[in-house]
Amino acid sequence: MAETTTQSGGKPGLPMHGIAQPTRDEVLNLPRVHISTHPVMAHKMTALRDVHTQPPEFYRLVKEIGALLAYEATAALALEPHPIETPLEPIVGQRLAGGIGVTPILRAGLGLSEAFREVIPDVQVWHLGLRRDEQTLQAMEYYNRLPHKVDLQVAYAVDPMLATGGSAIDAINVLKRRGIPRLSYVGIIAAPYGLLKLSQTHPDIDIYIAALDECLNDTGYIMPGLGDAGDRQFGTF
Ligand code: URA
Repeated sequence: MAETTTQSGGKPGLPMHGIAQPTRDEVLNLPRVHISTHPVMAHKMTALRDVHTQPPEFYRLVKEIGALLAYEATAALALEPHPIETPLEPIVGQRLAGGIGVTPILRAGLGLSEAFREVIPDVQVWHLGLRRDEQTLQAMEYYNRLPHKVDLQVAYAVDPMLATGGSAIDAINVLKRRGIPRLSYVGIIAAPYGLLKLSQTHPDIDIYIAALDECLNDTGYIMPGLGDAGDRQFGTF
């Protein structure tokens, strides 16, 4: 007899059970995917993953890792000339051309958006609430504070865990409807499954991550991963 399946194809309660997943090697060289190779990042990632790392330290690490990711993800932003006077003479300096938006996918994306604010204090923060249904792993929007007026050169959707890719894909869909010229996704850990889905669905965006892990387990958690990124940041176990 056929087993009952959820919308995503797995058993009820085990939404990824029996679902084929790509390997790490199969997604390592996807276009526009940037996986950090920085040794400081690798060092911080090990502390972040450690089950003994408590929420205050975990949140601090998310912000430090987020600052390194923000630095990498903003490396190709457009500049415009900006005349100033130094104490010694006038010069034509440079400033970022156009606004920068960061969209934390609530609630786990909040630590990363704080990191962006620390690197670029005048980023606009556009909150977006997407909850994933634990049975189907589908993302559902429950909160949206995107402004009516859009004057950005780029927006970054930020969420630490790129698992099945559902929330990331939906967040980029929402941002695309706002007509922002350039979009990126920034996350801490990706599973090959979600990374491939996001990259194939939105081949026109850049994706920045700190680490690419092995796979998703039957319940949709990234392995080896770090557990629930929201609970670990906010102490809600
Ligand atoms: N969300 C998390 O917080 N952790 C995972 O491993 C997958 C999704």
